[in-house]
Amino acid sequence: MAYDYDLFVIGGGSGGVRCARIAAGHGARVGIAEDTHWGGTCVNVGCVPKKIMVQAAEYGRLAQDSHGFGWDTHPPRHDWAALMRRKDAEVGRLNDIYRKMLDTSGVTRHDAHARFTDPHTLELRTQDGTTTTVTAERIVIAVGGTPSRQGHIQGHELAIDSDQAFFLPDLPRRILMIGGGYIGVEFAGLFRGMGAEVDVVFRQPLPLRGFDEDLREALATAMTAHGIRLHPKQTVHKIEAVGDARRVTLSGGHVLEVDLVFAAVGRDPRTPGLGLDAAGVATDKTGAVVVDGANRTNQPHIYALGDVSNSMNLTPVAIAEGHHLADTLFAPPPARTWSFNPVATAVFYSTPMATVGLTETEAIRHGPADIYMASFTPMRHTISGRPGKTLMKMIVDQASQRVVGVHILGDDAPEMMQGIGVALTAGATKADFDRTIGVHPTSAEEFVTLRTRTRVAGTTAQAA
Ligand code: NDP
Repeated sequence: MAYDYDLFVIGGGSGGVRCARIAAGHGARVGIAEDTHWGGTCVNVGCVPKKIMVQAAEYGRLAQDSHGFGWDTHPPRHDWAALMRRKDAEVGRLNDIYRKMLDTSGVTRHDAHARFTDPHTLELRTQDGTTTTVTAERIVIAVGGTPSRQGHIQGHELAIDSDQAFFLPDLPRRILMIGGGYIGVEFAGLFRGMGAEVDVVFRQPLPLRGFDEDLREALATAMTAHGIRLHPKQTVHKIEAVGDARRVTLSGGHVLEVDLVFAAVGRDPRTPGLGLDAAGVATDKTGAVVVDGANRTNQPHIYALGDVSNSMNLTPVAIAEGHHLADTLFAPPPARTWSFNPVATAVFYSTPMATVGLTETEAIRHGPADIYMASFTPMRHTISGRPGKTLMKMIVDQASQRVVGVHILGDDAPEMMQGIGVALTAGATKADFDRTIGVHPTSAEEFVTLRTRTRVAGTTAQAA
């Protein structure tokens, strides 16, 4: 059968656009549909606007820190509307870039919602209700996710989610975050940095479940030192409107009055409305499209990547998956390869956190590990007087001496971590770090001067 396209991508986010562009570059006839905004979550309601807002908050802190260096600044005053305008302009610029990149690559763009009507056919519906039908030999599902809602919380409709948080008309004075994950922690930091009073309610004893325990503890200490009120081991029971304010009852019975409740309780794959049944594509119990290591679904010609699939939900992972898939399908071998183990990641709290490889808990499942840690006041803050310490932690597999995990809470942690990610991907050992000359004076040089083991972790060593 002759199809309209060799490849059709549903979803114009980071992963889908990369896949479409690279496939077209290899000579495939490619179409792509996007029903909301080109660039997807990352560009529009995720990484990009979030980082702009984090940076805005950082300027306020820098102004305060500068006093220690002799600057006499007036109390900083912030223009929220100006920040929103600049942020929107930057997002608009990136939307255009995404569109242009597709057009110059020869990809046919459709501003439309796509829905399977059979395994090779998609109905495209534009915003004015016009429908057309296209067929494709291969189809990639790359529609991303949406913020989870907490339907069981009484009054949950009074809370906003991260999609709405990027369009607040002004900065609320008192904010309650529900959730101690990436978004809960990052927005708590940026709102606090902008001057709001912030409370964070989360179910675990510490924020950021799944991250290294020492870092989680240090983060909780830093958040408290920044004046954020933490409410661990709790959930929200009820939200009520009191005029423009919100009265929030926590599961422990504590009642708070705030101006904004922000639910950051995870994201759901955006599979509803895709017609996956008509294509026979299997999903798991969370609604995510089930894929194998090569992004193949249970249908041999249908693929899924990024947040809609059950793979790692991070933008750079979706981009790598999209690029690799396009190479695999249309390029002569060998395709460019990626290492998905380890994947470095960062939490843009202020102070930021970054991590690559195994946590201590994960590492000792494989055997004993040497733990190296350094905690210090960075040079800048001995002068600025800003409270809080940098924490660096390195986890070394004792048998092989390979560095299997590195974790940082401190200024510039995300920037430091990219290079360390390369080292771990290359299989660096502790001796490789030790024979590397430091860049002086930096915090990062601590990683090549860590000489004294803090402790040995893991069962064999403990028994010895
Ligand atoms: P996360 O999965 O990071 O955290 C979700 C939080 O919500 C956890 O604290 C979780 O608690 C809590 N939670 C979940 N369900 C409930 C519930 N029913 N009641 C109360 N609390 C609940 O999700 P986020 O929303 O913070 O972020 C979504 C995803 O976006 C991240 O997983 C990440 O993939 C991506 N992201 C990445 C960023 C980056 O790379 N810097 C930045 C922002 C987002 P518990 O731990 O107990 O389950």
